[in-house]
Amino acid sequence: MATTTAQTFESTSPATGETIGVFPKQGPDEVDRAVARAKDAFAEWRLVPAPKRGEILFRLARILEQEKSALTDLMTREMGKVKAEAGGDVQEAIDITYYMAGEGRRLFGHTTPSELRDKWNMSVRQPIGVVGAITPWNFPVAIPSWKLIPALVCGNTVVLKPASDTPALGQRFFELLLEAGIPDGVVNIVHGGGGTVGTALVRHPDVRVITLTGSRETGVRVLKDAADTLTHVHLELGGKNAIIVLDDADLELAVDGIVWSAFGTSGQRCTAASRVIVQRGAYEELQKRLVARVEQLRLGPGWEDDSDIGPVINGAALEKIHSYTGIGRDEGAKLLTGGEIVSDGDLGKGFFYRPTVFADVDPQMRIAQEEIFGPTTALIPVGDLDEAIRVSNGIKYGLSSSIFTQDVNAAFRAMRDLEAGITYVNAGTIGAEVHLPFGGTKDTGNGHREAGQAALDVFSEWKSIYVDYSGRLQRAQIDT
Ligand code: NAD
Repeated sequence: MATTTAQTFESTSPATGETIGVFPKQGPDEVDRAVARAKDAFAEWRLVPAPKRGEILFRLARILEQEKSALTDLMTREMGKVKAEAGGDVQEAIDITYYMAGEGRRLFGHTTPSELRDKWNMSVRQPIGVVGAITPWNFPVAIPSWKLIPALVCGNTVVLKPASDTPALGQRFFELLLEAGIPDGVVNIVHGGGGTVGTALVRHPDVRVITLTGSRETGVRVLKDAADTLTHVHLELGGKNAIIVLDDADLELAVDGIVWSAFGTSGQRCTAASRVIVQRGAYEELQKRLVARVEQLRLGPGWEDDSDIGPVINGAALEKIHSYTGIGRDEGAKLLTGGEIVSDGDLGKGFFYRPTVFADVDPQMRIAQEEIFGPTTALIPVGDLDEAIRVSNGIKYGLSSSIFTQDVNAAFRAMRDLEAGITYVNAGTIGAEVHLPFGGTKDTGNGHREAGQAALDVFSEWKSIYVDYSGRLQRAQIDT
């Protein structure tokens, strides 16, 4: 890509260490230029009729379908997730693109009666301006699409800063947008670290919205950095999600849900089930069945058909995950399986960690409170539903939650009382669909939602319009 930056950085495969690509390490000057291009392009893009913006996005959806297999393959290499999940990541981008492209012919506002005669009231959505989109590496195509597609259909222009662990996927997504016919300057990309290009984007006075998915720490930093310019900030942050298993649950189904939610994407999902809260009557049996299943999981590079679990993203993540195994042991939790870095054979060249299950975990232990973001889960025994809900809620995050039970009353109480943006009944903590709002309560965010109709509220502002056709001055609240 065109750049004036001499410095570069490499993207490497977490499975083998092979080089995927070399990218410019950009800085504040490139951010300035990208924002200036986006600001110029906004003047025209906001006036393109929304259905026409939608048509370009429908084209993008079709291109993404054609490119699905190539993007999937690249994702197994650059980010590491296994083929089926990488395909799911790309499919999520296809789904949100079709869904939001259709918004081009909706973007509904409201009309409502006036309290005065001969007066017309309505409210309409308006684009906001330049959006800075800062994305993590764990959903390297899906998350950029969740941000860019609704931003674009609403009429905003964008500067994307993808995670520096997955620049090739960010770059490819950007190129496909251009191929679909997005006009020059409407979407821009900058590569580099969070502390340099990320910060420059957040502090830029011409950026009107920052949408960030990342860790809680980054969210706090970004919120502070955006304060001086009163930039809108949309935050999707971490999670410490729990699956509740009651005595009456279908245990086979619960084990399926736990394995998928705790170890899918090697546990590197914001919605990963890193806690399993089990009623005592089911506790022994669930442990036995879960450990048997986890020990059958095959680790391997994402592109190999028989791999169940890929590598974790990098060496620092591997060390952090392993340090939590030490913390869990020191806290007195019982290690049932896993707890080691794989160092032998070909897998030793990558960052592979054995799926890890701790039992007899106290809800206040660090392994039950802190986001590990790896293939580690903690079994917590409880007496009844009330205690299960208390434990599930007893964390600072509030993203996803789940309950396995056959009791409709218990299910409805959980749906009401679990403090989380998402609750699943008889399914694990992962599996969001794009037409529903996605996001969390408490420290998982700042009250906004991605996806669904809710995403439109992040990327548009309401304007209320009053048209008085009475021919005289009518004063609201006075001339009633
Ligand atoms: P991260 O916070 O380290 O980085 C996320 C992005 O922010 C990257 O592009 C990074 O370069 C950038 N960044 C870092 N510091 C910055 C700063 N000071 N200013 C501006 N930008 C900055 O997170 P990560 O390791 O890439 O992703 C993992 C985290 O993301 C986990 O906590 C996970 O739970 C969370 N996550 C949340 C959701 C959700 O929807 N709630 C989804 C996926 C991941």
